[in-house]
Amino acid sequence: MPVRAEGVFEIFRSSIRFRLLSVLGSAVVWACAAQTSFAVSDSPPASAGPPTIELDSAPSQPEIPTDSRAVQELLRLAEVERRAGNTQGEVEYLTQVIELDSAHCLAHARLAEITGPAPASVLAKSDDLVRLALQHPYDPKALVVGATALADRGRTDQAIEFLERAVWLADLDPSASLTAIRQLYEISGEWKHRRVVPVQVYVDSLIQAQPGWKFQMRNVWSSASVMLDSLLETRFVPIAFGSFDAKEAPNDLDEIHAEFLAKTHAPSEGIYALFTGRPVPNEDGVHKKGVAELLGRSLTVRIAPGAIRSRVLAHEILHLYGAIHVLEGVDSLMNPTGESLALDAPNIRIVRALRDRKFGPGDIEQNVLPWIDLGATVAAYRAALSENLILRDAEIKEAMRSKKRSPDQQSFRVFQATYLDAHLADVARLAAALMLADGQRTEALRLLDLSSQLYGPSTPRGQAAAEKASRLRGSLEGVDASASE
Ligand SMILES: [Zn+2]
Repeated sequence: MPVRAEGVFEIFRSSIRFRLLSVLGSAVVWACAAQTSFAVSDSPPASAGPPTIELDSAPSQPEIPTDSRAVQELLRLAEVERRAGNTQGEVEYLTQVIELDSAHCLAHARLAEITGPAPASVLAKSDDLVRLALQHPYDPKALVVGATALADRGRTDQAIEFLERAVWLADLDPSASLTAIRQLYEISGEWKHRRVVPVQVYVDSLIQAQPGWKFQMRNVWSSASVMLDSLLETRFVPIAFGSFDAKEAPNDLDEIHAEFLAKTHAPSEGIYALFTGRPVPNEDGVHKKGVAELLGRSLTVRIAPGAIRSRVLAHEILHLYGAIHVLEGVDSLMNPTGESLALDAPNIRIVRALRDRKFGPGDIEQNVLPWIDLGATVAAYRAALSENLILRDAEIKEAMRSKKRSPDQQSFRVFQATYLDAHLADVARLAAALMLADGQRTEALRLLDLSSQLYGPSTPRGQAAAEKASRLRGSLEGVDASASE
């Protein structure tokens, strides 16, 4: 039965269409696949093949959705209604678009524009409060109020849908969304175990030029959350959008990221992330699509116009949780190349050990060490390093020794071995810090030496690692000397 709404348009189904958004935008389409296929086990059966875990088994889910013919036709009809000034008709067609494609950014953007925030009201009847939320489904505050009314009447599932939608729209009203999160913790069994990490999202002018870009950003974070949910049990929630153009940097992601860090303040809590619409350069060479600080709080990602799902973003998020690159050929999301959405067992172990880390001011001393099981983390790194870093190190030595290659070929191979996994130097340095904290000083020393070698002994970071190693060596020798006295 139609409900008259503010004289603007009618809503024909009281359930409205945000059932589709209950798991936050685009994610819902393949959320089921992600949840059913992800059976994490720390110790895979001995007979199993490569110890990988599918994070999302949807085989060919495109990162950039294309409109089906039905959606194209509905959008055309909506446009006809818009030009005729028939808002009611336009809303109906756009709503049908959302029914077919729950993450359609343009349709959401236009519907949000039409429905706007709910008027301030002193409505007392709970039916009215629910109706107000249905009429203004992009107003987080109205959604929270409506959800409370639903929860009071025992309609918990629907209340959860309203609240999750308010979280999806957190940037529009962070305080209402915070209330939504608190209520979700109270009424939803799933949310009880979930962590929430706020994200300060920065985009460049290329992204802002695309209509519906805010919905693209909300969707890309919600899809990453769902993709990694079985592993991290964390919702990444964009709570503010900012503009950032790396004007001084060439189209090189390391330089863009460096400029972003230099000119942006870290938020008091959470991740800060830059999305750039600058495509990978055409020239030959190694071009990054994403950069993240290992166990840090910042990342930069290239994103294609309209993409609502990003393997690169998931990969960079995992770096923030300490995940490390795997060797070429390993089927893993942590392989910098390839398309795999599986995650290898050593990285699963690392990320699980570190997923309670915080994202506040300070370094790993503040954000990581106090919140993790240090022993489990060190063990996870030791296992991963024995599979990855040591082999990589051997590869570098092998390349250096090789007499068959020309000096050019040789230096290219060294470049490949070091550049592609330059971050393994960071890994070694961080693992050394963890092992030091755990009292494993001999192993820490070995890793510091390796880290210095991987950075390049003549580079500033290589020298810093070497100095640390030498201090540690000194203190170890001091201990040995006093022990033998
Ligand atoms: Zn990476």
